[in-house]
Amino acid sequence: MINYTERLTLLMHDIVTRVPTLSFIDIADVLVFARAGRSNAEGAFATCHCLTLPASEPGYYFWRDRATKAITRRSEWFVTKSPLVTIGTRQIKYLISFTVPRFCDQSLDRSRKEHLYPGAEPWIGKLDTVIHELYHIDPDMGGIRRIEREDGTYSANCHGDQFFEQVAEMVHAYLATNPSQATLDFLREDFASLESRHGGVIGTSFRTFPSFPQRFIERLPEQPECEADTDTVKVEPLRASTVLTHYTENDVDVRQFTKKSSRKLIRKGAFRAA
Ligand SMILES: [Zn+2]
Repeated sequence: MINYTERLTLLMHDIVTRVPTLSFIDIADVLVFARAGRSNAEGAFATCHCLTLPASEPGYYFWRDRATKAITRRSEWFVTKSPLVTIGTRQIKYLISFTVPRFCDQSLDRSRKEHLYPGAEPWIGKLDTVIHELYHIDPDMGGIRRIEREDGTYSANCHGDQFFEQVAEMVHAYLATNPSQATLDFLREDFASLESRHGGVIGTSFRTFPSFPQRFIERLPEQPECEADTDTVKVEPLRASTVLTHYTENDVDVRQFTKKSSRKLIRKGAFRAA
C-alpha cells in the first residue's frame, strides 16, 4: 500500500531544499496527517495548523437579554491554548492535514488557479496546494505567515491577492530545478489509480480520529473579578474539558482510506507491553 502522508512529507522535504523562499523550514518541525474528505463533497484539500501560537488573553462567554441588551449570564474566565504535540523529544510546530481521497482527486481543470498555469497538466494543482500550505508557515515559526500589502501594512487575510501568484512562482521555481520524477509521481495519479496500483492508500492520522490536535479552552484557576457582574448575572461553570492537550507518538496511528470511509490499521509489532 502507498503511505500517502509519507510521500507528501518526502516531497515537502525536497521542496524546502530547492525553493529558497521556503528554505527556513525544517520538515522535522512539521507533521503531515490525513483527514477524511470525499472527492465529490465541498471542502478544503489541505490545511496548515499552527501549534506555536501563545495562549489567548483571558476571556469569557456571555449572553444578553434580547430586549434590554443587559448581560444576564456569563461563563467562568478561560484562556485558549494550543495543544502540545511531541514525537519523541521533538516538539512539532505545525501540522499540515490533507483530505483523502479529495486531495488525491484534485485537478487544475476549471479551478480558480487554472489561469496561473496555462497549459499545465491537471496534477500541478496538487503541487500548488502542497506549496500553498508550506507558504503559510511563518518565517518566525510563530503563527501563520502574514502577507504584506504593497503599502507595507499587513493584510488581515492570510490569502492576500499576491499569495496565489507567489505560490505559483514557487511551483514554477521548484519544477525548474528538475526534481526527481520518483518524488512527484504519486501526485500524477488520482485516488482510484493509486488504489489499484498499490493495493490501498494509507496515511498518518491521530488515535482520536476524526478529531486531531486543535486549540482548546482552559479554565483560569484564579477567577478574576468581572466588570459584567451584577447581582442578577449568573456565572456558569465551564464544563471540564475532555480533549487531549498533549499528543505524543503513541497518539499517532496509520489508517487506510477508501473512497467513502477509512479504518485504523493494526500493524504487526505495533503493540508493546506497557
Ligand atoms: Zn491557505
